Parts: sequence; C-alpha cells; structure tokens
Amino acid sequence: MCRILLVEDNEMNSDMLQKRLRHRGFEVLLAADGRQGVDMARRERPDLVLMDLSLPEMDGWQATRILKSDAGTCGIPVVALTAHAMVGDRERALEAGCDDYAAKPIDMPLLLKTIARLAASPENRERESPALPAGDPASESPGCA
Ligand code: MN
Repeated sequence: MCRILLVEDNEMNSDMLQKRLRHRGFEVLLAADGRQGVDMARRERPDLVLMDLSLPEMDGWQATRILKSDAGTCGIPVVALTAHAMVGDRERALEAGCDDYAAKPIDMPLLLKTIARLAASPENRERESPALPAGDPASESPGCA
C-alpha cells in the first residue's frame, strides 16, 4: 500500500483530502506544520509527501529544502499544494526541490496521476532497495542533488 504524508495546517483541506485519499486505498499520515512534517518524513519514510506551502512553525519551502538535502529523505517525492493563483509560489516550490505541484482546489484525478507517476519513479524504487546500507552517508540515492 502507498503511504502518503499530508502536511497541511488547514483542517478542512486536510480532512477532505485525507478522506479522498483513504477512500482510494492510500494510507495517510498527517502533519499540521512544517517541522512536524519533516520529523514524520524522517521517522515514517512515506512513499510520497503532499506539502502545503503556507504552514506554521516552518513553511513548506523550507521543509522541502530540508528533506531534499538529507540523504535519508531526499528520494521521497514531494508534491507542493499551491493556491491556484500563486504562480510564483509554484516556481519557488520547484526551486526548493519539490518534484511537482498540485493547485488548490485539488483536481483529484490529476493528483492521483501525479502520485502514480512519482511513486513509481526510479529514484523511489532505489530508495526502497534493501541493498542500500542504512545510515551510511555515502549511500545517497542517485536521484538526489
Ligand atoms: Mn496552509
């Protein structure tokens, strides 16, 4: 089963999205701010992160930069959740290392396609390979910058 970490501080958005994802068979982990999102990603190693950008404690850009600069989490695909009109936000999200973005309000069929594409990427399969020794700083997956 695909495990998704949803980092979203807006309770209504979070409730709606997690219900829709669970309905489609995903396991959903929740974090309500950027710092908690980073901690959970490190601990739980989800298959993919859905990252709101405007978050308390630490924003989604900063949280993504931290995940992408850490050998243990850089292979986890991150999809930014952006407000529809905020084109600059998306560009900054991609610069921060997000693999893709989904505009709010979320187009569910489109998001599911994005999840399917990223969760099946070679970087992600590499990350799941048991051949990589855990905790070895030299074991950075080739997909990471
Ligand atoms: Mn927010």
